[in-house]
Amino acid sequence: MKKENKQGKRVYELAKTLGLKSQDLISIMEGLGIPVKSTLSTVDNETYKLVSDYIEELKSKVKEKKEELESIPHNITLEEFGKHFGIPVEEIREKIMKFGLPYKPNYKYTREEVHYLAHELGLKVPPFIDENFKKKLVKRPPVVTVMGHVDHGKTTLLDTIRKTNIAAKEKGQITQAIGASSVKIGDDEIIFIDTPGHEAFTEMRLRGSLVTDIVIIVVAADEGVKEQTTESLHHAKAAKVPIIVAINKIDKPGADPEMVKHQLADRGLLPEEWGGQTVYVQVSAKTGKGINDLLEIIKLQAELLDLKTIVDAITSGTVIESRIDKNVGPLATVIVQTGVLKVGTYLRAGNTVGKIRFLRNTLGKNINLAQAVSAVEIAGLEDVPEAGEIFFELSNIEEAKLEKEKIEEEKKKAREQGRTPKTLEELLKEMEEMEEKKLFIILKADTQGSLEAVKRAISEIKSDIPIEVVHEGIGGILKSDVLLASASKGFILGFNVRPVQEAINEAKSRGIEIRTYDIIFELTDEIEKLLKGIKPKETKEVVIGRVVVKQTFKVPNVGTVAGCLVTDGKVLRGSKVKIIRNNTVIYTTEVSSLKRFKEDVREVVKGYECGIGLKNFNDIKVGDEFEVVETQEA
Ligand code: GDP
Repeated sequence: MKKENKQGKRVYELAKTLGLKSQDLISIMEGLGIPVKSTLSTVDNETYKLVSDYIEELKSKVKEKKEELESIPHNITLEEFGKHFGIPVEEIREKIMKFGLPYKPNYKYTREEVHYLAHELGLKVPPFIDENFKKKLVKRPPVVTVMGHVDHGKTTLLDTIRKTNIAAKEKGQITQAIGASSVKIGDDEIIFIDTPGHEAFTEMRLRGSLVTDIVIIVVAADEGVKEQTTESLHHAKAAKVPIIVAINKIDKPGADPEMVKHQLADRGLLPEEWGGQTVYVQVSAKTGKGINDLLEIIKLQAELLDLKTIVDAITSGTVIESRIDKNVGPLATVIVQTGVLKVGTYLRAGNTVGKIRFLRNTLGKNINLAQAVSAVEIAGLEDVPEAGEIFFELSNIEEAKLEKEKIEEEKKKAREQGRTPKTLEELLKEMEEMEEKKLFIILKADTQGSLEAVKRAISEIKSDIPIEVVHEGIGGILKSDVLLASASKGFILGFNVRPVQEAINEAKSRGIEIRTYDIIFELTDEIEKLLKGIKPKETKEVVIGRVVVKQTFKVPNVGTVAGCLVTDGKVLRGSKVKIIRNNTVIYTTEVSSLKRFKEDVREVVKGYECGIGLKNFNDIKVGDEFEVVETQEA
């Protein structure tokens, strides 16, 4: 007994007890620094314990990892992924192709794909990523969008970039651009979307995909930051896309790049050289100065983003632009984001299907296939898809037919349901189910002073839900404000300003709530109550009609009378009216007299003309609008 204890067990016996092959045990022991001569060697008790503890630990680790990985669902659609992890599917769809995974509604994602996607989205999953899967992910070029104020040089910059990069012999061959350009720097490539501007950017985003990886904000060095510079900034920030600032027109005599840096630093873009994160590049789109620096910076930023895609996957991507050619029919420029697009591929793009007849690269040359990530123009779709819509591959003509039926059904459903505006209450309710609760606001006011006052008042609202002003500005509420509200899942607050017609239409179709106020206290009071989950005040003002002033008359002893047309709803004698000039409320009063021809009347409805006199207000001008309001029970 004593002898056995001292000598211990033989290696092959030990291996048997531990459930291992003798050879494996020998290599493990050698790894632990215990030399073993043969399977017949004996192991003393102390070593035996050391080895068996080590192996038990190894086994439990492997098991833990396996269990963790097995808890990740597999063979699920994106919709199911969203449900499992509690994220809205639109949010994932917007980003998935950027990570290099294909998008297709009924596509079933494998465990590795689900794991990778969850990991990239920052969800709580084990950090381990399948080595074989990692090998499928290949480096891809960045997709860049140029934004900025009108006339600051966006178009010229894109033109110059294109020309810088085209070999001299090719210059003459290019007849037309396809909606995107590709620039080569050594072995690397950059793809530029040729439609500049923040409205186009956000509109695209709203249709589904966020294809842009990097935003360049162009600011003219002689003019500095302007309205649309700030708007661009807010749109890029809302999409959480990295920004590079190109200070343009440095060749001009009045150029002042430092001023631009100061102005943008005040808006949260602190330059790198001042300890911030934003890279500023000085360029002249006209002379070409600094353009190579800009390209290098984009390349560097792309490297930091570590952009990847999977070529060995089904094909999917985003539509950038589309048009109808009278000889060829519908043409669309797309960015292929995953897989390979080939002549003959069936696909669905937005609300249309087709089979690729031909492909053209960014130089306008016909090619047979386009590999992710690249920009190409495609022919063969039955109709024109819209910019921003996603496309994906269909396996055959049968699937294309099925998909076409689906499109018809979806269209029919959309027609039947219509869209009902989303109220702030509904927005808050939706928010209850979201992990990160935040109320996003687009704030417009009539003057800088009132904008500041409203902002201060909002910041003083006591609530557990933080409020973030995504964009602020002076003047009427515009279509781009509605687009931004829609993309940020927020709503619009107007103080002493009103939406323009285009914005009203856009808000209606997108279901965005616009709330306008003329008293700060009312605005904050209502938001505070809403945030507390309390019903808003018992009564509220509703607009019951709109009237536009066509002519004005001076009537002795009465004052100014307006010859008006009722454009919407109705107006009553005694109605409360808000006078709107240049989308701004300039005065609130009552209708003191209402006439049809010479007759006093009680009410006039849409489509009819009338004469209106206002209480205490004579400064009526042609083009003024009266918003007729009524106080109603909420
Ligand atoms: P966009 O509205 O932002 O697309 O601006 P454009 O590219 O159309 O440029 C507006 C004007 O500025 C045009 O007349 C351009 O020639 C001029 N421009 C653009 N970049 C430069 C530049 O770097 N230097 C100078 N001097 N003029 C420029």
